[in-house]
Amino acid sequence: MTQYVYRFGGGVSDGGAGDRNLLGGKGANLAEMASIGLPVPPGFTIATPMCARYYDEGQKFPESVQDEVKTGITHIEGITGKRFGDASDPLLVSVRSGARVSMPGMMDTVLNLGLNDRTVEGLAAVSGDDRFAWDSYRRFIQMYADVVLELDHGSFEEALEIAKEDRGYYLDTELTADDLRALVAEYKALVEAQWHKPFPQDVHDQLWGAVGAVFGSWQSERAKVYRRLNDIPATWGTAVNVQAMVFGNMGDTSATGVAFTRDPAKGDRAYYGEFLINAQGEDVVAGIRTPQYLTKVAREEAGAKPASMEEAMPAVYGELANVFDLLETHYRDMQDIEFTVQQGKLWMLQTRSGKRTAKAALRIAIDMANEGLITREEAILRVDPSALDQLLHPTLDPNAPRDVLTKGLPASPGAASGAVVFDADTAEKRAAAGDAVILVRTETSPEDIHGMHAAKGILTARGGMTSHAAVVARGMGRPCVSGAGMLSIDVKARTMRVGDRVVKEGELLTIDGTTGEVMVGAVATVQPELAGDFGTLMEWADVFRRLKVRANAETPLDCRTAREFGAEGVGLCRTEHMFFDAERITAVRQMILASDEAGRRVALDRLLPAQRKDFTEIFEVMAGLPVTIRLLDPPLHEFLPHEEADFAEVAQAAGIDIDTLKRRANELHEFNPMLGHRGCRLGVTYPEIYEIQARAIFEAAIDVAAKSGAAPIPEVMIPLVGTARELELMKAVVDAAARTVFAERGTTIEYLVGTMIELPRAALKAGEIAEHGEFFSFGTNDLTQTTLGVSRDDAARFLGVYVEQGIYAKDPFVSIDVEGVGELIQIAADRGRATRPQIKLGICGEHGGDPASIAFCETVGLDYVSASPYRVPIARLAAAQAALKAKG
Ligand code: ADP
Ligand code: MG
Ligand code: MG
Repeated sequence: MTQYVYRFGGGVSDGGAGDRNLLGGKGANLAEMASIGLPVPPGFTIATPMCARYYDEGQKFPESVQDEVKTGITHIEGITGKRFGDASDPLLVSVRSGARVSMPGMMDTVLNLGLNDRTVEGLAAVSGDDRFAWDSYRRFIQMYADVVLELDHGSFEEALEIAKEDRGYYLDTELTADDLRALVAEYKALVEAQWHKPFPQDVHDQLWGAVGAVFGSWQSERAKVYRRLNDIPATWGTAVNVQAMVFGNMGDTSATGVAFTRDPAKGDRAYYGEFLINAQGEDVVAGIRTPQYLTKVAREEAGAKPASMEEAMPAVYGELANVFDLLETHYRDMQDIEFTVQQGKLWMLQTRSGKRTAKAALRIAIDMANEGLITREEAILRVDPSALDQLLHPTLDPNAPRDVLTKGLPASPGAASGAVVFDADTAEKRAAAGDAVILVRTETSPEDIHGMHAAKGILTARGGMTSHAAVVARGMGRPCVSGAGMLSIDVKARTMRVGDRVVKEGELLTIDGTTGEVMVGAVATVQPELAGDFGTLMEWADVFRRLKVRANAETPLDCRTAREFGAEGVGLCRTEHMFFDAERITAVRQMILASDEAGRRVALDRLLPAQRKDFTEIFEVMAGLPVTIRLLDPPLHEFLPHEEADFAEVAQAAGIDIDTLKRRANELHEFNPMLGHRGCRLGVTYPEIYEIQARAIFEAAIDVAAKSGAAPIPEVMIPLVGTARELELMKAVVDAAARTVFAERGTTIEYLVGTMIELPRAALKAGEIAEHGEFFSFGTNDLTQTTLGVSRDDAARFLGVYVEQGIYAKDPFVSIDVEGVGELIQIAADRGRATRPQIKLGICGEHGGDPASIAFCETVGLDYVSASPYRVPIARLAAAQAALKAKG
């Protein structure tokens, strides 16, 4: 029979860290911590496969599982010496969800389960603390009503507020045992009024209700949205953890807290965290009371008064610090930890790999490698290449004027500007319409995830560095300022206010998640720093990577950026944009509209010097490196004049009358230009166009070589080839141009002629095509369009549905369709190499900057990938990871 319940604590661990798929992350790590001797309250985990079974069986629990849970409870009872439901010394438990990966959107934890009208008296008697017992019961009813019974939690909050107001209290802690007893009676009445049944007094009913609610929450809308955004399969399911309660709310020697073993924002090697004295679980993250710092240093840096844990509870703090070190050494990674201190005794409640910003991920990986905790290879594998994006983008210009509205906590670094919105739905709507938005909330909750995702930045009035907003924002790489206490938000009026300054929805705001500053208007930004940790990791990555990394660049500026980011050449220099230049467009139009070769040559001769200058500038930047230049590719009609004045200008330049011109322009109309007169078809019909482009390339290369001594290596690329004969013809044109220029100049340079593989036929006939081409560059944008028969520009309407229904695994324009397009690439590589073993192979589509596609390129053994300049570092890291993974 399948086992569903796994115990931990008291010297027993049925599972361990390796069982994350079975026990969920939380359960697996609780078992692991227990097995290495850390103080973990005993409990058990109901494994993830139960989740699917629960739904299969009509949301019921099979008898065998009920028996297993009974055994689990007995395990806890045996260790704690308390009994579940016992009126004199009751066992209380928490019921906690926990999937394979941590997942906001799941049911919240229920604490203090096992309290009822009888057991509360027992708890009061054994603890000798009436107030504590009734406060726990009050909390339990409130949580259970909210997360299990899903009643209106506002009414419970309200009852609590009124209870305080009536008595003139400010803090929850001022409520006495009698006040709480009265509040419990009110709570029970609220439950009965809304649920039409009394609050469950049977502790087993309470337990199964909570367990069912955890499994039920797996299919909640919130959970589904989160799964969709994070590619989490619905089949994984969640586990449920049932664990003996420990109490951080038993007076001033008790506390609860959360901590990271290193700074999750900057990555520094310093304990980082918050705690609250005399408080329970969620109080820290809920932002009800302002938490205190863990360490003295952090408190002093923040200029805060209330004692740090290090100062207030030095002995337990020392113990905790030891546990931090032990966990880091054991897991070999930065940990995110939850703990509770009950009357001076430390209890560990959770550990997991801590979410961190890209900056922190870099720092931690490098430090840990330098500390000898991990190898350099591991350090490289630890950093998510896509996350580097966060570091490659601009930060606020320190010299730009800024109008600071207020300051909060620097919860997630980076700067963002955008229009203020006050709810997640509006954020999503405006972002979909192309606006940059800043989501401003009093505090965030899992319901806000889609809005946080859509926003450029997040600002909250409440909550600490470990609040929901802070944690989620860091995970998403969104800048976030949390706990801006001066800020008051009026969601109905759609305004926010600091003192007498009011900001309305839609007005521009800038937040700096690195300093916590909130500014009115948009503040200017500066380019990122590429040295430091970033440079170190890139250096390490370069040692392990096999694939070369080039950039898609077509201006000297792009080329310069690409080189700064470490590009080793240009993989795609498109030439069409050069033709749109205001000073040249008339000559270009004259060329297109000419009725014969002689007419075209007149216009082309006018274009030659300009084109030569383009290439000279690019070659100067790329001296010594290969530059792949694609000859003219787009359908000619893209350059046609539209305005009457444009026609007149061309008519005058070409000496033809306007009507003839217009007739000629009409003839160029195409029904399906994507598959029309473009690519090498232009070169085949009008060879003089490619001839002049080739001439410009060779003249420029010789000029630069003469001047700087470092000759670029031009790789002349013929686009849209489908047959060997096309390439044969075009190569002859290019070679002839080279011979002519070399003869004229009395010198030669090295160059290659090759083609872009972007048609399925080209991939299939690669063996023949390779007879004429010295390199292939996979143009995977068009190859994806032509293989799938999908137009990228028209795919938006169905692509979402296709990905959702699993027809496409991912957006094939973002990540290579490995099965289809990938097979064509493999075929082309194999057949190309069979003809010409030394053929140079690269990829120049959008996919060249996508880590998953780069991993695929490694398996095919391509020579290089080419990505947009800002993605070059991502590609360098992804290529190193791919090489390391291939090595195994
Ligand atoms: P989440 O995944 O939202 O963090 P958790 O299950 O970790 O939910 O629990 C929420 C809070 O309750 C945490 O602060 C946790 O430390 C606390 N908590 C959970 N179980 C217990 C327990 N058995 N005793 C005391 N506190 C607990
Ligand atoms: Mg929670
Ligand atoms: Mg937790």
